Amino acid sequence: MAGTRECNQDTAMSWPCVGEAGKTGDWRTARPVLDPAKCIAAQKNKLVCMQCWAFCPDSVVSRTAPPQIDLVYCKGCGICVAVCPTNAIEMRPENENETENKTVAEDTCCGC
Ligand code: SF4
Ligand code: SF4
Repeated sequence: MAGTRECNQDTAMSWPCVGEAGKTGDWRTARPVLDPAKCIAAQKNKLVCMQCWAFCPDSVVSRTAPPQIDLVYCKGCGICVAVCPTNAIEMRPENENETENKTVAEDTCCGC
């Protein structure tokens, strides 16, 4: 029987691979944005914390300081936001710029 160490992983568990669920396309409604000023790993310039890397179900957060998020494959689930102990990641709407660029007339239109 094959040992778990043969897959070069430390534990006997399944590991997702980047891109397993395919490219995200344009259906994601919000994307994670990381602020290095609040990130423990970025501030210490070390591979510490790494909760965002450990819990991302799509394995799209790099194990680097600071972590990088591959938005091509990120599904926008928000788990990285939920597990970050310092609130260094926030979800921002994909259409944020559209909202910012909206005119006052569009904002106040009654929809008639
Ligand atoms: S979980 Fe938050 S503080 Fe920890 S490495 Fe990720 S972004 Fe930085
Ligand atoms: S939003 Fe979800 S898929 Fe995207 S980086 Fe965070 S945990 Fe991973």
